[in-house]
Amino acid sequence: MKRRTGQDRSVTRNWKPATQAIRGGTMRSEFGETSEALFLTSGYAYDCAGDAAARFAGEQQGMTYSRLQNPTVQMLEERIALLEGAEACRTMATGMAAMTAALLCQLQQGDHLVGGRAAFGSCRWLTDTLLPKFGIETTIVDARDPQQFEDAIRSNTKVFFFETPANPTMDVVDLEAVCAIAKRHGITTVVDNAFATPALQRPMEFGADVVAYSATKMMDGQGRVLAGAVAGSEDFINNVLLPFTRNTGPTLSPFNAWVVLKGIETLDLRIRRQSANALQVGRFLEGRVPRINFPALPSHKQHNLFTRQMDDAGPIFSFEVEGRSQAHALLDALELIDISNNIGDSRSLMTHPSSTTHYGVSEEKRIEMGVTEGMLRLNVGLEDPEDLIMDLDQALGRAGL
Ligand SMILES: *Cc1c(COP(=O)(O)O)cnc(C)c1O
Repeated sequence: MKRRTGQDRSVTRNWKPATQAIRGGTMRSEFGETSEALFLTSGYAYDCAGDAAARFAGEQQGMTYSRLQNPTVQMLEERIALLEGAEACRTMATGMAAMTAALLCQLQQGDHLVGGRAAFGSCRWLTDTLLPKFGIETTIVDARDPQQFEDAIRSNTKVFFFETPANPTMDVVDLEAVCAIAKRHGITTVVDNAFATPALQRPMEFGADVVAYSATKMMDGQGRVLAGAVAGSEDFINNVLLPFTRNTGPTLSPFNAWVVLKGIETLDLRIRRQSANALQVGRFLEGRVPRINFPALPSHKQHNLFTRQMDDAGPIFSFEVEGRSQAHALLDALELIDISNNIGDSRSLMTHPSSTTHYGVSEEKRIEMGVTEGMLRLNVGLEDPEDLIMDLDQALGRAGL
């Protein structure tokens, strides 16, 4: 495997994101293939026993086993690191594997974590159920207010963990302010950047230490495979994350890595078009529903902060109707938009979080998070926005709005 002449890191680092998305991390085999090769292999053969010993001792470069390294997976990791502006990245089998690894690799019994209130349901399960089970204390705060992070700090606080924008309330966290508080106290910030992707928001530019992804969402972007990623400094990835993941094995399959590599080639194009479509659909809904949670709209309370941090609207927002029965009636009346709890797909998808993605979160916690019974989350796809607006218009009418 070789990179094309000139594709060493000192050169690729300087490429702009559009170039990184197509070329970043590419390695070529002796066949000179233009598209990245898919290496479906679990193991690697050695020329002699001494080579095997040298590789295990770390004295010889090369791969040993696909739980640890795989060329296709490595190309994806390098590409995400370059897009993120991170020193290093490791991919995982799913977004949740990435979140779990990013937290468990650095926390131990007796430590304390401060987490954002609004979060993906499984992320709340990590902070509320899994971590406390292993003696890691957690405090949940309203992440829209940086002061709440500062007030929650204890002598044993090790990690701040939050999403921005958060699923599904679209709470925006002030990255610069919260990361500055963390830095002053020697706390590591782990940011779940699934909604924005590095195409629209690079948390490290605002001081974040670790960025974790569900690459299932916009990076694949076409609803095909599950994948996750964790990006950070070489020191964090090699000395903190890797010992955990190499031995616990939440490894991404080479096939899924290859699909995501292909997805990233069009990430910027898709997310820009989906953002424009989402804005058009959002402006229509703004006049038709009691409440819309879409920070890209100028009427949103956190609009200024949002535009400081994010380059474009993103494809996802939520809105609220009158309770569960009206929300379900609206979903059932849709003719084009699918009822589906996935996001980041090129298809428009709508879900009722409180009965799906946040079903596992207690009612009390849902209320605390702001996930109401009338809330619907919409992922706006690449269809013609006029068709989407027509579908929503007729469905709203049939639901009595
Ligand atoms: C989907 C999602 C996850 C989980 O990712 P999977 O790939 O489904 O495991 C985590 N965080 C956020 C914000 C998500 O949207």
